[in-house]
Amino acid sequence: MIKKIDHLLYYGLIALAFVMPISPVSANIVWPVLLLLWIAKMAALKEVRIASGPLALFVLVFILAGVLPAYFGQSENKGFFGVISIMSFLIFILVAENTADFKHAQKIGYLLGISYIMMLLLRRFLYPVGSNVFAGCFARLPVERSIMGLAFFILLLGAYFYYGFKKLRMVFGKERFFIVLCLFAVLGLFLSEFYLSEVAGCQHSGMEFLPIVWLLMALTFYKSRAVFLDRDGTINEDMHYSADTEKLKIFTNAGTAIKMLNEAGFKVVIVTNQSGVARGCFTEKDVHKLNDLVVERLNKENAFINGIYVCPHHPDIACRCRKPNTGMIKKAARDMNIDIKKSYVVGDMKTDMLLAKNTGAKGIFVLTGAEKTPPEFTDYAAKDIYAAAAWITCRKEPD
Ligand SMILES: [Zn+2]
Repeated sequence: MIKKIDHLLYYGLIALAFVMPISPVSANIVWPVLLLLWIAKMAALKEVRIASGPLALFVLVFILAGVLPAYFGQSENKGFFGVISIMSFLIFILVAENTADFKHAQKIGYLLGISYIMMLLLRRFLYPVGSNVFAGCFARLPVERSIMGLAFFILLLGAYFYYGFKKLRMVFGKERFFIVLCLFAVLGLFLSEFYLSEVAGCQHSGMEFLPIVWLLMALTFYKSRAVFLDRDGTINEDMHYSADTEKLKIFTNAGTAIKMLNEAGFKVVIVTNQSGVARGCFTEKDVHKLNDLVVERLNKENAFINGIYVCPHHPDIACRCRKPNTGMIKKAARDMNIDIKKSYVVGDMKTDMLLAKNTGAKGIFVLTGAEKTPPEFTDYAAKDIYAAAAWITCRKEPD
């Protein structure tokens, strides 16, 4: 289900980037549909944050300053459609809130906040009532009447391209493709808007589709950070080559620890070696059944797991997934757009620490499993998963 939504979103966004500069009206039909899809996906993953963390105040101020006057007809964006067009800005914040990387979301958020205040000031003091400075900032008004607007536009576009290309150096594959697409979509729609208003003399506002670009940007620019958790000996007591659901004992503070990581914006991913499958102790189905139970118990404590990856192979088979090989983490990173270098591996075995080392993540050794001596290259040794989560969330972002 989520995979299907992802596919729709992926191709929808590509289509949107092309539709935007050509037909803003169609774009305004497409993007709310994509947004609904995105919300459905987030709801299915049970991880929608509406106003938590550093952006909460920003959301509140925005509603008071933007949506309420619009609703009561006190601003240029009047009535229902006015509210909808302003809401697109709020939608950006909503998306940014859920990108897991607050630091980057914050930067863009402040940039947009400043731009919004500047536009309000421009409208209030520089232009007579009725002129559309929103659009004027970008294309419509003659240049001599909107030097500030033009300066502001260059600033915004400059910042946009700066962030865009800075990100471009660090990303690959699909994400890079999207960023290039976004950057050119902005350029394209600016040119089409300029053409329509200045050359063809048509009237149409350009403001409504910039938030779409921000939406695209927020959806694709940020990589999330993850905490890769070993299962046996880290989340629950060691199972000793068993997949018996009766024997499952989750550590008492594991739920709290995972919830803490959820709230700090980390993706929480379980990566587990289950060679018991290859050894014939239990089947892969049994493993999934047990995993489901782990997830169910954790969910009861409002702790959520974003993904589970299992290696069922025998150690003698040279597979790419068995820890300390990096197959499972690399797959998770592809599936969930994770920045591995800014992520963590938490486990009770030397193999987990080797896995961290092999992938460039930070390794945290927990003392709740079979092995009691952390290898010397461990980044941190924690009493248990809770101490590990506390260390991760208190820690400044690794550079
Ligand atoms: Zn394997």
